[in-house]
Amino acid sequence: MDRKERYQKQIKKRVLIVEDEYINREMLGFMLNNAYDVLYAENGREALDILKKNDGISIVLLDLMMPVMDGFEFLDIKQNDPELKKIPVIVMTSDETAEVRSLNIGASDFIKKPYDAPEVILARIKRIVELAEDRDIITATERDELTGLYTRQFFHEYAVQLDQYYPDWSMDAVSLDIDNFHLINDLYGRSFGDKVLIRISDLLRELLSTMVDGYACRYDRDMFYIYCTHLDDYEPLRKHIIDGLADLTDTQRIRVRFGVYLNVDRNMDFEQRFVRAKRASDSIKGDFTKRIAVYDNEAHDKALLSQRLISDVQRGIGNGELVVYYQPKYSIEGDRPVLKSAEALIRWKHPELGMLPPGEFVPLFEQNGLIQLLDHFVWAEAARQIREWKDRYGVTVPVSVNVSRMDIYDDRLEDRLVSLVEENGLSSGELLLEITESAYAENAKQLIDVVASLRSKGFLVEMDDFGTGYSSLNMLSVLPVDALKLDMQFVKNVNKDAKSLRLVQLIMGIADFLSVPVIAEGVEEEEQLKLLKQVGCSIIQGYYFSKPVPPAEFEVFLKDRESETV
Ligand code: C2E
Ligand code: MG
Ligand code: MG
Repeated sequence: MDRKERYQKQIKKRVLIVEDEYINREMLGFMLNNAYDVLYAENGREALDILKKNDGISIVLLDLMMPVMDGFEFLDIKQNDPELKKIPVIVMTSDETAEVRSLNIGASDFIKKPYDAPEVILARIKRIVELAEDRDIITATERDELTGLYTRQFFHEYAVQLDQYYPDWSMDAVSLDIDNFHLINDLYGRSFGDKVLIRISDLLRELLSTMVDGYACRYDRDMFYIYCTHLDDYEPLRKHIIDGLADLTDTQRIRVRFGVYLNVDRNMDFEQRFVRAKRASDSIKGDFTKRIAVYDNEAHDKALLSQRLISDVQRGIGNGELVVYYQPKYSIEGDRPVLKSAEALIRWKHPELGMLPPGEFVPLFEQNGLIQLLDHFVWAEAARQIREWKDRYGVTVPVSVNVSRMDIYDDRLEDRLVSLVEENGLSSGELLLEITESAYAENAKQLIDVVASLRSKGFLVEMDDFGTGYSSLNMLSVLPVDALKLDMQFVKNVNKDAKSLRLVQLIMGIADFLSVPVIAEGVEEEEQLKLLKQVGCSIIQGYYFSKPVPPAEFEVFLKDRESETV
């Protein structure tokens, strides 16, 4: 028994019963249930819906008198639909004149009501289904004439069946292209080209009966599709094809390339799976060092996610999905730590994707400029928050906001910041600005000018992620900054190995030389805090004190400070 027959044996054919009377529906369904997979509709409209939504219905059993849409109207619509037209209909009626009418408008047979013995009905249905199938087989060609592989249509159908019966198998979608097939035709003639195609098809058939399970088809002139059980490595398969083609020519090698979409997503449209395989294959076109290209799921998913975030951000801001968290910075110069300021850090509570940390979207928005939209939102929110806390607790807690590279090159930066502090009745020293060190390294001249100008307006600037941006020592001496934020990678091992501690000491020396205080980020342990204090670090930010928290939670720190100052 070949694979096709196997599947056909396994599938129960589907029958759709269209009948408004419950008792008739049930009775007929009961007769057919053993032999068929039975679907039900209560009127013509519902039946059309079911036919459109379900593939592979072999026959319709149709009552004529029904509410909403009767059998005649149903037949009329169905017969004018090129797809639905092929499905045979048996009419069920007690009215002899209706029989003739319905045969005239396309029904294949009729069953008398009340029903005959079940054997009679079953025999009629079987005969009509078989007749229709034979007609289908006559009109559709299953095999490609030249190569004997399945045609596109049948390939598709069998593959879908395979999916249905083996839902747990991991399947791969593979495309096989012949490089410069037109040249092969031109050089050696069409019949030689045909020979190549036939040989490849024979080789594929061989593979599908030995190495993998699945189907192949000639999709296009010189392109083959293979839908098969998962392989980790396609090199043996490729080698089999190449070796099998070797004796066809002695002058020019025939080259093939493979595009592979591994472990296909079964929910994806079937054709779409091969679009992925083909896309992979196209990516190595002309590159003779690479002959197999694997579709990169991750890259694709990432691109999709990026696209999604980009299109969602504006709405997100409008809907309050983007929220600002605050992380305290403590001064450790005295005997006891004192709340000094806070850093505003963005979070995105995405309705479908959940809580997104900035690492998931900030770098993306930095690439396309959307970061400014986000930053402006955060600055405004932070300024408003400083004001609110000031009014409520009578204390000033300056908040630092992150300023992106893009913002720096925006002429309106200064005006925007100045009006923000003015609108909220703040002094410019209360809104701190964090600018990453790598921004300094990039276009030092312009950045230095912008920062100098901001400082002249009273803003305080902290150089963020210090130690990762490779500022030259020479440049550091002309940098206008008010604090260095030591990147957390230096803090991480400061209590673990002597080298890290030494490095931090060196950085502290530089800061001392520049006369700017150092803020250590990412301090999680008491031991780290002690060492940092020893080497002269004045401000600490990190989980040791608190993670970034929503404003309401941050108020605990304000209350503590309030009680201390009283
Ligand atoms: P950053 O400005 O260097 O912020 C410090 C990051 O270190 C924050 O990560 C904070 O949660 C994390 N952190 C603080 N203390 C600890 C600690 O003890 N242990 C560990 N493991 N991590 C700690 P977050 O909030 O995920 O932000 C990551 C980066 O995203 C920020 O680095 C900043 O570059 C960027 N970012 C965040 N909010 C904004 C924003 O509003 N605008 C812009 N342009 N960038 C932002
Ligand atoms: Mg920062
Ligand atoms: Mg940082």
